[in-house]
Amino acid sequence: MDPLERGEEVRYTWAEVDLDAIAANLRALGERARSGSPGRPGGPRLMAVVKADAYGHGALEVARAALAAGASWLAVAIVEEGVALRQAGFEAPVLVLGFVPPEQAGLVVEHGLRTALYQVDLAAALSREAVRRGKPARVHVKVDTGMGRLGLTPSEVIRFIRAARSLPGLEVEGLFTHFATADNPDQSYAREQASRLGEVVRELDARGLRPLFVHAANSAAAIDLPEYAFDLVRLGIAMYGLSPAGVPAAPTGGLVLQPALNWKARFSHVKVLPPGSCVSYGCTYRTSRSTPIGTLPVGYADGFSRRWSNRGEVLVRGARVPVVGRVCMDQFMVDLSPVWREGDPVRVGEEVVLLGNQGAETISAEAWGEALDTINYEVVCLISPRVPRVYRRGGEFPEAGGGGRG
Ligand SMILES: *Cc1c(COP(=O)(O)O)cnc(C)c1O
Repeated sequence: MDPLERGEEVRYTWAEVDLDAIAANLRALGERARSGSPGRPGGPRLMAVVKADAYGHGALEVARAALAAGASWLAVAIVEEGVALRQAGFEAPVLVLGFVPPEQAGLVVEHGLRTALYQVDLAAALSREAVRRGKPARVHVKVDTGMGRLGLTPSEVIRFIRAARSLPGLEVEGLFTHFATADNPDQSYAREQASRLGEVVRELDARGLRPLFVHAANSAAAIDLPEYAFDLVRLGIAMYGLSPAGVPAAPTGGLVLQPALNWKARFSHVKVLPPGSCVSYGCTYRTSRSTPIGTLPVGYADGFSRRWSNRGEVLVRGARVPVVGRVCMDQFMVDLSPVWREGDPVRVGEEVVLLGNQGAETISAEAWGEALDTINYEVVCLISPRVPRVYRRGGEFPEAGGGGRG
């Protein structure tokens, strides 16, 4: 279980990613999404959103685990992320959710990626490349029902789809939208968005133009608005076991999600400083008495924010200990007084939890985000590639994974 005990060469910091938790979360979310349309056989397809290196969890490993657990689609934000999946051998359909520059149309067609589509320039470029390469370019037309980000307005959709269908090589396979407030307890705005989408779908249906896959739901909607699961649900944050609302203890309607990532480290140095000693740059912390100080080989370049200076906490021996002094680029210090015992001092190499649980204590990504005035999504995305990821499967950590993906 412990990467060092297993003889693996890793830094004295690593993130453990539990792929079983991701699989269990995905299955639970799939069940919830299916509950929204009980009459329908099979239920909506599950799309595992693995953009931004699977929210910092590792795109290739998460994609593999999600497909094995019942997902049939993958989604990324940019073309390069889709190409990386193809180069790793993934053959499942991959949708690029974000902006695709027309200059990347050749790459898209070559690798058989699907893209969001809402601009004629990209439609024309994809069609040209599809014809040139003798391969189809499949697209999901994006409609902006109230997010105000990407997409056509609902009134533009029919004309756009007609035009797109007339382009050789282009296949309009999907139609989708994105909710702005699906994590909000007040569901009225999300329902308005869904009804705008429903209206567009009805109009397309009446003209025989309805694409095969209509989709709208992100994690929050899959959980709280399963009646809008349509043909496919796009599962990101909740698949990683984190709350879509981004805040601690957000209600997930009885759904139990398991956070998949634990960020750990080991002490690189421990010493007792005399009273009046400075700790770290700027001498912003000075010991008032004899104080045991532990140094960790983790810093803001690893994603441990400098804003934790003199205010963060980590878990040592099942207890919270405070960060003292400024967080440096590659290191920071903690005051070990709360756990210091004469005769059993904390030692170099002892394990520390930065994010996750140890004993009965937990530092959640939600609490971390709230303390730093951001959300759990950003917390996990910012754990840098420099931190090796170690993967657990079948209750074990059988594969090195260490050395990571960095
Ligand atoms: C990132 C993203 C998702 C996944 O959102 P979660 O809140 O993480 O489930 C779904 N759809 C689109 C368009 C996205 O960009």
